[in-house]
Amino acid sequence: MTEKKEQKESYPKYAPGTHVHDKDIYERKITYTWWEPEVQYSWSLGPAMSRFLQELKAGKIIGIKCNRCRRVIVPPRMFCEYCYGPTSDWVYLKDTGTVETFSLSYLDADARRIEEPILIGVISIDGASPKHGFMHYFGEMKPEELKIGMKVKAVWKPENEREGSITDIKYFKPFRGGEE
Ligand SMILES: [Zn+2]
Repeated sequence: MTEKKEQKESYPKYAPGTHVHDKDIYERKITYTWWEPEVQYSWSLGPAMSRFLQELKAGKIIGIKCNRCRRVIVPPRMFCEYCYGPTSDWVYLKDTGTVETFSLSYLDADARRIEEPILIGVISIDGASPKHGFMHYFGEMKPEELKIGMKVKAVWKPENEREGSITDIKYFKPFRGGEE
């Protein structure tokens, strides 16, 4: 705890230079140009990621099994990056898992310093082979509660707000087993 405090105090209070915020653009304090691009394109995600995102929209996490080494992979891929075997058997997984690694970000998306950190990390999903998973946010916990090895559960967006995106899961919250 002491070590953490010392580390925090060693940060410079003010970064050098002039900060530019969104409102400086909208209030025309800085020179800018603006146009509406007319770009039409589609992007194929491939069979594995397409199915994964469709299932997220339905509120489910799906993985796939390697035909050769039987590893269960999530997010699913069409081949196993361990043994290069093909994959084909879809496996529904739980929406619970274990924190493999995490980070507390004191910078927001605009790289501005924030008081309350954003909690992110990699979660290995229950039912998939261990020691791999995907990145997501953590919520409903204090930063100091977040630990490697802790059990977590997905908090989903309401069904009518899901759009087939990894953010159809809002974040993972602490899971103490038995609760739904
Ligand atoms: Zn394999």
